[in-house]
Amino acid sequence: MATLGIPQNTIEILQKYNFRFQKKFGQNFLIDTHVLERIISEAGITKDDFVLEIGPGIGTMTQYLCESAREVMAVEIDDNLIPILADTLSAYDNVTVVNEDILKLDIAKVAKEHNGGKPIKVVANLPYYITTPIIMGLFESHVPLESITVMVQKEVADRMQSGPGTKDYGALSLAVQFYSKAEIVANVPANCFMPRPNVGSAVIRLTCHAERPVDVKDEAFMFKIIRASFNQRRKTLQNGLNNASNLSVNKEQVVTALEKMGLPATVRGEALSLEQFAELSNLLKA
Ligand code: SAM
Repeated sequence: MATLGIPQNTIEILQKYNFRFQKKFGQNFLIDTHVLERIISEAGITKDDFVLEIGPGIGTMTQYLCESAREVMAVEIDDNLIPILADTLSAYDNVTVVNEDILKLDIAKVAKEHNGGKPIKVVANLPYYITTPIIMGLFESHVPLESITVMVQKEVADRMQSGPGTKDYGALSLAVQFYSKAEIVANVPANCFMPRPNVGSAVIRLTCHAERPVDVKDEAFMFKIIRASFNQRRKTLQNGLNNASNLSVNKEQVVTALEKMGLPATVRGEALSLEQFAELSNLLKA
């Protein structure tokens, strides 16, 4: 099978199967061999790796993954793409295509069955409309992960990488930092896709921490605090956390904890680092 990274080959396949792009599935297929090669090399795929690909489309990146990995599982929601994938991936015996919604798949079970429970690599040109639920789902369901190398909307890549006091900083930045080291490894222009997305794109690599970077008594409680802080961005922490229905902490407790941390009572969540959120949640949990 000819490489689909060359636009003419992609067009031929789309015409052969009379494929119609579905906007609701975030379908923007890659048509640039340099970008594809870059993603594979930044993901550091070797013949030892089991790779989970989310949304293979017509199999463009899947072909590259099959060439470089030991085993690939590609999870695609769109029924219309399944016969196409059977065709474009027919040369490979190290790939399984699963016709399923990635948000419903038990990925920890997949890692156990296909990689003996060892950390897996996730590589994808993500459907942008569900980037956050996919990334948070991977982290929070405690899938053993080595790294996640994914194409995302440029703005989202910036949010994942940003620190306290910047406009992009938020709950997603903190979750990503808690679980991984984030690096934007490529900016990708719209003409590398078919059809062209109307937003900028970037490839981000999240290298997952073997150990948590901060000590937290109760991770779920810390993330409730983080979400409550950014849900009410313009409020001070003492008001934001006091108003959060799922937290049962009062203003006095927050002010006392902030004092112990040497922070002013009027501080906002956007000024706190991951270490400070960890300390705050430990003090409030005490
Ligand atoms: N990997 C292909 C490429 O780079 O050319 C396609 C990437 S395209 C941006 C996103 C893919 O994810 C589409 O094939 C789309 O049908 C699929 N997709 C969308 N929602 C999904 C979901 N919930 N579960 C699995 N796949 C999904």
